[in-house]
Amino acid sequence: MHISDIFAQHPTTFSFEFFPPKSAETAEKLYATISDLEDYAPDFVSVTYGAGGTTREMTHDLVIRIKEKGVLDPIPHLTCVCHSEQEIDEILTRYAAAGVSNILALRGDPPRDHPNYDRADDAFTYAADLVKFIKRFNDAGRHPDPRGFGIGVAGFPEGHPATPNRLLEMDHLKAKIDAGADYICTQLFFDNHDFYDFRERCDLAGIQVPIIAGIMPITTTTGMRRMADLAAGSRFPARLLKALDRAGNNPESIRRVGLHYATEQCADLLNHKIAGIHFYTLNQSSATREIYANLGLKALG
Ligand SMILES: Cc1cc2nc3c(=O)[nH]c(=O)nc-3n(C[C@H](O)[C@H](O)[C@H](O)COP(=O)(O)OP(=O)(O)OC[C@H]3O[C@@H](n4cnc5c(N)ncnc54)[C@H](O)[C@@H]3O)c2cc1C
Repeated sequence: MHISDIFAQHPTTFSFEFFPPKSAETAEKLYATISDLEDYAPDFVSVTYGAGGTTREMTHDLVIRIKEKGVLDPIPHLTCVCHSEQEIDEILTRYAAAGVSNILALRGDPPRDHPNYDRADDAFTYAADLVKFIKRFNDAGRHPDPRGFGIGVAGFPEGHPATPNRLLEMDHLKAKIDAGADYICTQLFFDNHDFYDFRERCDLAGIQVPIIAGIMPITTTTGMRRMADLAAGSRFPARLLKALDRAGNNPESIRRVGLHYATEQCADLLNHKIAGIHFYTLNQSSATREIYANLGLKALG
């Protein structure tokens, strides 16, 4: 369903993010996780996009498999990294033919395993350029929906590390919306004030599209360290760190603290009438299911 219709039907959207499987064995585990979460009827599920050829095909295959099953609505991520215009055009054509309704357009992280990677070789330098290209695809009537793909872009409540000037960064975000983006999905954050402040700054900049909050529950300390790396610059409030400290080395206590913290974050966001909550599931279903239960949200099944 086009993202505008999703927002029109739901005052708050709920969505889940997965990354593509690395092997046939992890693929089966992931399909089981996705099936587990079907009962929660998320408004969409998104699938991340890597930099290598195999992982990229895995994203495509997973998106098409979810789409063909017809229970969940997949939103593929697409990045500028290591792509020519022609390749992006082919990907959009494949997704349009499969009836995929929306795309999350990103610049993408530099590939870790390509030491000679040079952004200057990419056809699109910034996500805004990719949004413009998708918009041209849409305007050419190449999607079965006359509106074309719904387009999402990334937002960073704590700021993106490459642009320390936050005023300039907001100009860059606004450029993505002006280029045709329909919604923003944020990077994970652990202090809701950062999100509320970001939302107000967007409003002041004239950004009127819905902003979905990215939430990642902490379930292990190693997972927390890995995400601190991936999210490049995430702030972990002392309140969270003290609670984790009290949990000591007990994995079950750490998990309980992480889920309790994420539940409180979500409850507060819901009380502040946010457009949507996007769970970074890390391809596991249990944390999301427990947070749903804690929030009193019901599964359909
Ligand atoms: C919800 C979400 C999902 C993600 N999914 C993926 C994924 O699937 N795969 C992946 O590889 N990465 C993913 N990322 C990470 C993301 O690709 C990186 O954080 C990337 O560095 C920024 O992407 P962007 O789309 O915001 O880029 P952009 O909007 O292009 O911004 C990147 C940086 O460039 C600056 N900038 C923008 N325009 C200009 C300009 N004209 N001149 C100078 N500077 C400019 C911005 O201020 C910012 O600092 C995701 C991030 C989020 C928040």
